[in-house]
Amino acid sequence: MKRVYLDNAATTKLIPEVLSEMMPYMTDIYGNPSSPHYFGQQAGMAVDKARLRVASAINAEPGEIIFTSGGSEADNTAIRGIAERYSKRGKHIITTAVEHHAVLHTCQLLEKQGYEVTYLPVDEYGMVTADQVREAMRSDTVLVTIMFANNEVGTIMPIAEIGKLCRERGVFFHTDAVQAVGHVAIDVKAMNIDMLSMSAHKFHGPKGVGALYVRKGIIVPALIVGGAQERNRRAGTENVPGIVGMGKAIELACEDLDEKGKKMAALRDKLIREIPRLIPEVKLNGHPTTRLPNNVNFSIKYIEGESILLMLDLNGIAASSGSACTSGSLDPSHVLLAMGLTHEVAHGSLRMTLSDETTEEDIDYVLEVLPKVAERLRKMSPLYHG
Ligand SMILES: *Cc1c(COP(=O)(O)O)cnc(C)c1O
Repeated sequence: MKRVYLDNAATTKLIPEVLSEMMPYMTDIYGNPSSPHYFGQQAGMAVDKARLRVASAINAEPGEIIFTSGGSEADNTAIRGIAERYSKRGKHIITTAVEHHAVLHTCQLLEKQGYEVTYLPVDEYGMVTADQVREAMRSDTVLVTIMFANNEVGTIMPIAEIGKLCRERGVFFHTDAVQAVGHVAIDVKAMNIDMLSMSAHKFHGPKGVGALYVRKGIIVPALIVGGAQERNRRAGTENVPGIVGMGKAIELACEDLDEKGKKMAALRDKLIREIPRLIPEVKLNGHPTTRLPNNVNFSIKYIEGESILLMLDLNGIAASSGSACTSGSLDPSHVLLAMGLTHEVAHGSLRMTLSDETTEEDIDYVLEVLPKVAERLRKMSPLYHG
């Protein structure tokens, strides 16, 4: 059966070139980077090289990169770290209603510990403005944490404007850029970003490894304490193969970033153009143009996202739904609700996220299968009356 993978926002395929660069660190070069002998030094040099590659990809310095176990740990480290270290500056945090749970749940945890959190509302496209951030700022605001690009609807936030504002006000600015790194150009200096989270498995690297960029001079205490790894900022023997893979993957992702982006955006736009032509009563979710080059999200009215996914899967198409969170609960997506969708419309959402390996044939196959699936499900839907 033809298989089309359109769930690249959940995770991506490991590139063979990345795997082959990782392999020696799982076999012959097994030293501990903290050991001063040959075996350890070889591993340590590989970690240094990866750190340089990760830093270069976002215009940071190698000393500003802390390797973590992934995006979630990077988010936790940044937000909890700033809250703990700089609580004397104030206990108010600004974020948005559409963040990933790694940020939202961390903020909720801090609320229980006496912090006040402003969850900025978004417009119909899932966007916040720098003006909203400005208006929410108080004398006790210590941190602004706003995602670079939304994982469900792909909307890209005005990060450079928010960064500029935060720098002027002397408020720390963290961005969860897990969906953006390797997909859109990022320059932490030009964008005035203080902290940035990323995750290797979202750009064709291995799972279980990520990084937090922390601008020089900012102190983020370790979330995981123990050994002195990562200059005392993250204890635990380094995931050497993972880190090596992340370095290679980020380098590859940032090569011809524009070209790959344009190719994906063309296929994305074909879906955005054709789906409403082939299926009546659908709604594009997310910003029509200021969105990730690989993200398509539609609500297909009168049917449930979960049933569309099942039917697509039976036809070899792997997509995702914003309608149910991974815990298996049937709560509609907090992102779509924050954008003003009704529960009913939010339940019918379908996310398709492309990679640079997605072909025109893949897209044409989706355009052949999806209208049939939608029609069949609507015929069974008590909500649909033709
Ligand atoms: C995937 C994702 C995360 C979590 O990253 P992990 O490496 O899986 O922990 C955090 N934020 C966003 C926006 C994501 O898409």
